[in-house]
Parts: sequence; C-alpha cells; structure tokens
Amino acid sequence: MEFYNTLGRSKQEFKPIKEKEVGFYACGPTVYHYAHIGNLRSYIFMDLLNKTLELNGFKVNLVMNITDVGHLTDDADDGEDKMEKGARREKKTVWDIADYYTDAFMDDIKKLNIKKPGVICKATDHIDDQINMVKEIEAKGFTYKTSDGVYFDTSRLKEYGELMPNFNPGDLEGGKRVSLGDKKHVTDFALWKFSKPGEKRQMEWDSPWGRGFPGWHIECTAMGCAFLGKKFDIHTGGIDHITVHHTNELAQARASFGDKHANYWLHNGHVLVNNEKMAKSSGKFIKISDLEGKGFSPLDYRYLTLQTHYRKRLNFTWESLESARSARLKLKNKLSGLKQEVYEGGVSNNEYYDSFLSALNDDLNTSKALAVLQELIDSSIEGSVKKFLVLEFDKVLGLGLGEEDVVPEDVYELGLKREKARELKNYEESDKLRKEIRKLGFEILDKKEGFEIKKL
Ligand code: AMP
Ligand code: ZN
Repeated sequence: MEFYNTLGRSKQEFKPIKEKEVGFYACGPTVYHYAHIGNLRSYIFMDLLNKTLELNGFKVNLVMNITDVGHLTDDADDGEDKMEKGARREKKTVWDIADYYTDAFMDDIKKLNIKKPGVICKATDHIDDQINMVKEIEAKGFTYKTSDGVYFDTSRLKEYGELMPNFNPGDLEGGKRVSLGDKKHVTDFALWKFSKPGEKRQMEWDSPWGRGFPGWHIECTAMGCAFLGKKFDIHTGGIDHITVHHTNELAQARASFGDKHANYWLHNGHVLVNNEKMAKSSGKFIKISDLEGKGFSPLDYRYLTLQTHYRKRLNFTWESLESARSARLKLKNKLSGLKQEVYEGGVSNNEYYDSFLSALNDDLNTSKALAVLQELIDSSIEGSVKKFLVLEFDKVLGLGLGEEDVVPEDVYELGLKREKARELKNYEESDKLRKEIRKLGFEILDKKEGFEIKKL
C-alpha cells in the first residue's frame, strides 16, 4: 500500500507500527452549523481509507474528534469562538448547539454510508487532558503568557513548519500587514485562552493560568494521545489544515514528547463551488438536505467524489451530480438484473478483485477502482460471480448498489421533466407526468427545493 504523505511530500509505502493494527486519527467537524458537502468529502475520504485498510486485513482503531469549543472565527486565534457565535445566531445554549449539530453530522455520515469511527470524542470531555499537555509544553519551555492567553513560541521549535511546502523561518516575523497583538511571532498560537474580563462565556474552565478555554489545536494532540498513544500511524484532514491546524498539532507533539505523533499525514483537496472553496463560515453552502431536496440520494454525491482523486480539487456542479446519479443508477439496475444465486467461491485469484485492490492501494485511486467496477459489470463472467464481486467492491465504495428501492433512471428523468414543467407553470403537463410516474410504480413528492421520488 502506498499513500501520499504530506510530511515528506511524497508517495510512500505504508508501514504500520504494529503488524496487523492501524492507529488512525481523523480531524472531526466543528459543530456550530451543518456540515457542507465539502466537509463531508473529508469524511468520505476517511471512510475509504478506513475500509481500504480493513480490506487489507488490518484492524483499524479509528478516532474522530468533535470540536465543540475553542475554534475561533479566525484560525489564527483572533475573533470569536465559532460555537458561541452559533449559539447567539440561534438563541440557544452552546451545549444545545453542539448536541444538535453533532446529531445532524451523524445523520449525514450515516446517509453517506460512512462507517462510524470506533471512538468519537468531544473536546469538552477532555479538558483535563488538554490542560496536562499544555503543562508539559510549558515545562519544556515552549510557552509564554500574554494578557489574553498562554501561547506557543514557534521560534523555539526547530522543526516548526515541517508540513508546509515553502515555509521559511522568516515567516515567523510579523510583516507590516499582520497585527501581532501580544504575540511574539505571527505563527505563535494559543494553547489556552483567557475568558475576557467582564465577559461570561458559556463554556469556560479553571486552569493553572486562569479561567478560560483551550486553544483549537491542543484538543487533537491531547485526545490523539489519550486514545492512540504518543505515536500512531495515520492522521487526516482537509488541505486547509496543513498550514495552521496540523502544523500546530505537530509542533505541540514535538514540544511535549519529541515526536511527530503520526507517521502519515494525509489531506483531501477542497470542494469548490463556482471555483471558490465551500466554507461553513460564509453561511452559503450546500448540505445533504439540499441534495435530497432536489431528488438526489446522498450516495450520488458519494459516487461523484469517487470520480476525482481525493487529493485533487473538486468543482461541484449540479450537472456533474446529475451524471453521477445516472451512472450510479445504471450500475444498480444492471446489478439487480443479475441472477439471485449465491456464489461462495471467495475472491482469491480473481483478476478484477486484484485490479480493484491494487487501485485502492495506490493512494486510493478511486476513479480507477470505479473503472474496474464498470469493466466487471460489462464483462461476460458468470452472473452470480459478478454479483458477488460487485457487492464485495461496494463494501468499500459504499454506493448502496445492492440496496432495494432503486428509482430507475427513466423515472428520474420524468421527475426532472415534471420539475421543469412546474417551473414554467405548465400544470397540465406536470400532472400528466405525475400520472406517468405513478404508472411506473413511483410517487413524486414536492419538496421546498426540488422533489423526492418514492416507491409506491
Ligand atoms: P470543520 O468542520 O470546519 O472543522 O471542517 C471539517 C473538515 O472539513 C476538515 O477536515 C476541513 O479541513 C474539511 N474541509 C473544510 N472545507 C472543505 C472543503 N471546501 N472541501 C473539502 N474539505 C473541507
Ligand atoms: Zn484536529
């Protein structure tokens, strides 16, 4: 197996620390709003990696955090806590906001066929672990205190910036355009922030340095250690984490116990809309419910993401989702047309299976894996073997190919036509199309945005 390791910037052979087990930490969501389809690409990637490792016989200990405190509106420790801001927006408590959006995230990942990580840990449940790690970093002489918190002095760590492609130590100095506040260097970051005098935060704790809350990066290093130890195999997140969050996590690990924490740091590329990064903070983003509202299955989106390599950017368009849906439904329909007999021969010495596995083992080359799937479906091999293999592949791809309730492509096409007719206020045509859809055994339901089709 080979993966592209951002630390070292090369494709490297995967050598696990233990023979048959993998320690894997995935940076989880900040739960102040719904996850958008960009965020969710990160967890589809996590899932593919997890399942590919399992396919290779590893027991994967997958840990994912929930950021429910400390992530500020400005990644560089200025601005407001995103959670407190979310609570104000919705006139709820921070704790309610965190619970609500954590549940919503869990629903999303379920719909995307993402296997739930074995450990899901909340930052607010591990405040003591974080305080202890800050104490260790302090004892090693890497911190200083300002009026608003305890900061990590990045100039003291010779490896600082090792994840970044073109980092040079001069970048530590504040240029004229960057306001340093009380910080000594631009790259210095908060380990612990003080509650502002006179301001009552909803989430705050006592610490040896004063009442306040942890910086954003310390939660992952502390919880990574708590669940996977000081050294584990894989750490993942979106590409935006390279320059700040993961760089700082790595710095904390180096400072507190002198190691790089994870051996392989893997990052997924961004999802763009109209060539701009989809961002939760903008408030304008596409969610799973938006896809469903237009009659898509979340798995159509999963298929769409598999067509592009995880490290590349993915420019989302509704047309591309349309083609993904159509391709996925074709696969489903072909599969449902195959014989029902059960094949029990296993996968050894099968050329399709071998090509599929080697595509995934080559830094998760999912577009190649989909091509192998297509070849297999179009091949003339015996129906029951074909069915068996497709379902084996789908254990990793997660496209729901064997699930019932297929809405055939022609029914979807009629749904789209009806949607157009409704837009043009041609109600006679739209009624005619509804009847046609019903004749084929399906019901079309109008949603706030778009439609949904259900089997009658
Ligand atoms: P957040 O909830 O903001 O902490 O982000 C959750 C995950 O989504 C992180 O791994 C981010 O790096 C990743 N992410 C954020 N925006 C995008 C995007 N537009 N495309 C892909 N991944 C993203
Ligand atoms: Zn993290």
